[in-house]
Amino acid sequence: MPRTPEDDNERSDDSGGSKPGSRPGPGLHIVATPIGNLGDITLRAIETLSGVDLIACEDTRTTSVLLARHGIATKTTAYHEHNAERARPGLIEKMRAGARIALVSDAGTPLIADPGYKLVTAALEAGIAVSTCPGPSAVLAALTLSGLPSDRFFFAGFLPARGAARRTALTELAPINATLIVYEAPHRLAESLADMATVLGPRSAAVARELTKRFEEVRRDTLPALAVHYAEAGAPKGELVVVIGPPGETKFAISDEAIESRLRDLLKNSSVREAAAELAAETGLPRRVLYARALKFSRDPDEES
Ligand code: SAM
Repeated sequence: MPRTPEDDNERSDDSGGSKPGSRPGPGLHIVATPIGNLGDITLRAIETLSGVDLIACEDTRTTSVLLARHGIATKTTAYHEHNAERARPGLIEKMRAGARIALVSDAGTPLIADPGYKLVTAALEAGIAVSTCPGPSAVLAALTLSGLPSDRFFFAGFLPARGAARRTALTELAPINATLIVYEAPHRLAESLADMATVLGPRSAAVARELTKRFEEVRRDTLPALAVHYAEAGAPKGELVVVIGPPGETKFAISDEAIESRLRDLLKNSSVREAAAELAAETGLPRRVLYARALKFSRDPDEES
């Protein structure tokens, strides 16, 4: 069994934490950092970042802001997706020789849609101790604010950027009986939500934006209604997470305005029959009712203004 860094420390209590003020042990320390609010960092994370020999950072400039805020003077080095292959052997060598190295990403928990997985496996293979200072991650922050079931969830990371690949990925996710969580870029949100509405139907969902920051916002609605909202409002600013309820979870009712707006949108490129069929598939509402409404818009162009 590889030694853990904590083996070198006296246990302070049954929680397994190192004694406050003691130096972190040799090896790799995965350290979670804030996802926005710089106050969201644990006491152990500060002690670990202060006590290690080196901090491997996704972006040394980003991490330097956090370090300055907490008066930490530890040396930093870059470890990101573009230099990881080259930088990893050197970090492993240092730790083999007894160095204490912390890994941080720009925000949140390393390895979660961020670099670190290969460094952890390389360290474990080399018999180097790996420990973690858990803390913020946007996936859990979004889930806890979403209002959606939190007992079972599936984190799918970033969906593919292109429509066809994204719809294939969503088709694979569709049968999973759990709340789904994805990271998404703001400029792709509207089209991604439209694909989610088409593939997953009228499930309840939440778009959680700028979590822990000044303009934090959580918008809860059905997927079709959210798709309509962001198609009209345009790309939101900042970072965001989409949380989607499990199959059958449609507790945020779809509004009349959202139905009307989505129908107008669909009618730009489809016949009345096709638009009604598509929206019926997205929302689970009766096709007959949607057909009647779509017919009204298509016959009365003034309605569209
Ligand atoms: N490792 C990070 C974590 O633990 O959450 C995630 C890194 S990933 C490269 C960045 C993505 O996380 C963003 O595009 C966004 O989807 C999500 N994210 C990070 N911070 C966020 C925040 N404050 N509010 C909403 N989403 C956030």
